[in-house]
Order: sequence, then C-alpha cells, then structure tokens
Amino acid sequence: MSTRITIDSISKHYPSMGPEGGITKAVDGISLVIESGHLFFLLGPSGCGKTTLLRMIAGFIEPTGGRILFNDRDITNLPPNKRNTGMVFQSYALWPHMTVAGNVGFGLGVRKIAKDEKEERVQEALKAVRMAEYAERKPTQLSGGQQQRVALARALVVRPDVLLLDEPLSNLDAKLRLEMRSEIRRICTETGITTVYVTHDQKEALSMADGVAVLDMGIVAQVGKPRELYNRPASRFVADFLGETNFIHAEVAGKDGDAIRLHSPAGDLHSTAYDHDNAPGGGNVTCSVRPEAFRIVEPKTDDALTGKIVETIYLGEMAQYIIELPGDTRVKVFELHPGELKKVGDPVTTHVNPRDVVILAD
Ligand code: ATP
Repeated sequence: MSTRITIDSISKHYPSMGPEGGITKAVDGISLVIESGHLFFLLGPSGCGKTTLLRMIAGFIEPTGGRILFNDRDITNLPPNKRNTGMVFQSYALWPHMTVAGNVGFGLGVRKIAKDEKEERVQEALKAVRMAEYAERKPTQLSGGQQQRVALARALVVRPDVLLLDEPLSNLDAKLRLEMRSEIRRICTETGITTVYVTHDQKEALSMADGVAVLDMGIVAQVGKPRELYNRPASRFVADFLGETNFIHAEVAGKDGDAIRLHSPAGDLHSTAYDHDNAPGGGNVTCSVRPEAFRIVEPKTDDALTGKIVETIYLGEMAQYIIELPGDTRVKVFELHPGELKKVGDPVTTHVNPRDVVILAD
C-alpha cells in the first residue's frame, strides 16, 4: 500500500544568531497533504525552509510544533530508522571503497536481510535505475549521472514507503539533469512510491511534478499542479518565481460578461483569470502577463496595446522584445519561431487573450 503524507501545522523555530536575539522561523505552521503515489515538490528560493521541512519528514530534525502522519500513523516522534523512508542527498554520499552492489546492498545488511534475498533486491533496485551491468564497478569509475542512479537504487532497495530527494540533480551538468528528470519521473511512476522532492529549480518542478508547494519564508505561498501554478499564480511572489512575467498595474473598470475590464496606463485589457469567488469589483489591481502570452498583431485589433520596440534579442527559436507602451509601461514579449525580426524604434501592436491576464490576489 502506498503512503499518503499529512503535514499538520508543522513548525521549526531556531533561536536567532543576531545581536537582537529572537527566533528564526525556518518553517512556520505548514499544513499539506501529499497524495499517495504522487511525486510532490517543495519549491522555493534559498532559505524558504524546504530542506528543513524535508528533514522533518525524514526524522533528522525534530519539529517545534505540529504533526506528520504517514497514512493514519503519527510518525512525528519516531526516529528516522523507524519511518521506512529512503533518502537521496545532493552529494550522493556513496562509499568509494565499495562496489556499486556493495553500496546499494549496505542498508539491507544493516537490516539483517538474508544473503540470497539481499542479492535479489540489489539486482532489482539496480535494474529499476538501469544500472544492473555496473554492479561490480566502484563509484569513481562512474559518471555523475550514474552515481546519482546508484544513490537512487540505494534508497529504493529498502522498499521505502516514502522517497525523499534533496536537490538530487544539482551536481549534474545541464544535459544530464534533463535526462535524470525523465528517469526519476519514470521510476516514481513505475514504483508508485510517494516521493517528496526539494528544489529551487522551477523548471524541474514544472516538468516532473504531480503537485508542487511553493514556499516563501517558512510558509506555503501556493499549492497546485504545475499548470495551475504557472497559469494562475495567486501572488506576485509565485508569478515571479515560476518564470518570467510582466506586472501591469490597472484599475478595475467594470465587467463585460465574464471578463473584468481593466484600464491600465498602457491601454485597456480584459481578464478572465481572476478569483471568481472573490472578484474585484473596483479599485487598483496588479496583473501578471507572461511574455509568451502577448501576440504581435496587425494594428486596429480590439483590445490591442500599441507601442514601440526598445530592445530586440534573437535567441534562435524565439525573439525577445522589450516593448514600450504608453504610460511608461515596458513589457517583455516572446515571439516563437520569428519571421523577420523587428528593429528598435519599430511601431508594434500586441494583443493578449483575457485568459492570460491574471489578476493577482496581492
Ligand atoms: P537552501 O536552498 O539554501 O538549502 P532552504 O530553503 O532549504 O535553503 P532551510 O535550510 O530549510 O532553507 O533554512 C530555512 C531558514 O532556517 C534559513 O533562514 C536558515 O538560515 C535557517 N536555519 C536552518 N537551519 C538552522 C539552524 N540549525 N539554526 C538556525 N537557523 C537555521
């Protein structure tokens, strides 16, 4: 049976080291449910508390308050070796003097598993990470990506209820990182083990996750599936952290059917991407519009913004423009597979679909 993780108002406070004393709230009352069999990401900038939360799930750090449950079992006060978790660290922490098989089987020896079963399970774990033919090599005879696979096999061999990954790809080069993203995704799907994955790399989270919690200064800024978070960020922090965006300040001018009509210094816009249970009836709002959501169009389109190009960068598969709109508003716009490039000073008209104008809650 796979494991659902319930994190209930968990906190970790440390005494502050500064001259004024006080406390650092590394994790400050986080509640989350991680569904059984999901690959779930804790994503956020350095210092947001993601490693502290992962280590509390592993049992290496004792919480100041709150509870952690694996299914209905409260494991908050269990020592790490009684939780049946497998952990993969940023540095793979392989023993250089042991073979790959020796490294992978070490945990089973500690658990006093019989020799035959141990060999069978080591083989099974090495097969799962596609490293069976490397069993007799030493870690120094492996590439970084292969060492990472061995570290994963070592975590899987104990048949953990929960797999915990702490920035597992950060020591790999860009190409290997891409390859290992698909590998980890495949292994999680095939084994069905509930996995918690810590990273500050939003692309990693967006491309692999079933669910993501974006953390900011010890609290959860937003939880959702990758597309929900990217397309409908709730706050400036989430919109900005999950990719490039333009913030446009506007005044709510009324409604046209389901869409909110907005007056901005750059021109008029419509939005259908807002909190429908709590729709702003008036006042000032901030909108987030992704650079790829703008379409460069012919002049005189409805709801179009007209300005001029102030910067053009050719990036191969796309052109990146900075467009100056009325009211001192500058927006970044991506044009995929560009035809003729626009030049600095060229007049330009852009349009954005109302579903891509996201009215932020704060
Ligand atoms: P990074 O990506 O840099 O590893 P993180 O999001 O994993 O960052 P944590 O390591 O969880 O962040 O730390 C969260 C906050 O708690 C930071 O401000 C950190 O300085 C503080 N902190 C972590 N461990 C301790 C400790 N043992 N004593 C005091 N403060 C700590």
